[in-house]
Amino acid sequence: MKIPSADLAAQHKKIAPQLKKACEGVLKRGDFILGKDVAAFEREFAKMCGARFAAGVSSGTDALFLALAALGIGPGDEVIVPAYTFIATAFAVSYTGAQPVFADIDERSYNIAVQGIVRAVSPRTKAIIPVHLYGQPAQMDRIMGIAAGGGIRVIEDAAQAHGARIRMPSGTWKSAGNIGDMGCFSFYPSKNLGGLGDGGMVVTNDGELHKKLLSLRDCGRVSRYEHAEIGYNARLDTLQAAFLRVKLRYLDEWNESRRETAALYAKLLGGIDGLILPYAASDIEHVYHVYAVRFKARSRIISALTKSHIGAIIHYPIPIHLQPAYANSGYKEGDFPVAETVCKEILSLPMFPYMRRRQVEYVAETIKKTLKRG
Ligand SMILES: *Cc1c(COP(=O)(O)O)cnc(C)c1O
Repeated sequence: MKIPSADLAAQHKKIAPQLKKACEGVLKRGDFILGKDVAAFEREFAKMCGARFAAGVSSGTDALFLALAALGIGPGDEVIVPAYTFIATAFAVSYTGAQPVFADIDERSYNIAVQGIVRAVSPRTKAIIPVHLYGQPAQMDRIMGIAAGGGIRVIEDAAQAHGARIRMPSGTWKSAGNIGDMGCFSFYPSKNLGGLGDGGMVVTNDGELHKKLLSLRDCGRVSRYEHAEIGYNARLDTLQAAFLRVKLRYLDEWNESRRETAALYAKLLGGIDGLILPYAASDIEHVYHVYAVRFKARSRIISALTKSHIGAIIHYPIPIHLQPAYANSGYKEGDFPVAETVCKEILSLPMFPYMRRRQVEYVAETIKKTLKRG
């Protein structure tokens, strides 16, 4: 048996005729830039999140960058980001000229630690970017509390968490991305909701920020020929929006399928010494973008999985503060011990919608056999 780390083909096979039809519609209209499907997808995506507004942009990275730009964040400012995430979270801050200030992560959820944020706050802190890593929402109630106390804005990096939900202290459930000032999503093909190319979205309930985002993504335009400020070419393609409208209708089904796979993994791999399974708190709805487990004996497991033709990927082997790109930012090994340990032990097992039961069983068997051999 051969099992890829993710299988987009299984997802697309079922909906290929609808995707072709969506493409034909765009071809016929020829509205390739900010066409009808962009506005329609923005409405539909905002509704899915329970947010008032959404602005389609060119990628998840640009979503984060434009959200920071919309707040006027730039040189001299600091933005707190987790030391353990996809590097684009930090890059978006660097693009503005502001300083990314790293915070350690929580040992169980791998999300930014509340204590880490408290330690990182300074008079220059303008924003916090919690990441809902692997599809598991961060501790938003606590983070919003810290932010409110310090006059700090919150931009959620929900690039891995389309459809994830959090139970707020009031008891109501809210979508990841719809709690902070803005929520940023990526439609990179392998994300829970992915296009057939790059794309991104910023959702917000703030009408002014939304207006600013629409202008910034489209050359700073306020009308066809009038550019209010130095803007960017960072629009979501109509073609991608058309594909994403088709795929959005399946998001719940795909997320449910991911949760079923996660539950099966947990059942088959539970209680094994030297193996830590994902932690899922009761006040969140995880969407398992990634099924990440921890092994002390990671390299042995990786070679066994590879030999058995099972795709296993490390998200992420190097914490951001130790990346060469940030070599000159004054951080060193030992600054964020939890992030550094997790980087050495974490491993993503295959996870994708419609993963078959015997595929999950084969992965679990391979791991168990390897650990038993000791
Ligand atoms: C994918 C991802 C991004 C960047 O999204 P792109 O669309 O690839 O630019 C940012 N943050 C996180 C956590 C991601 O997983």
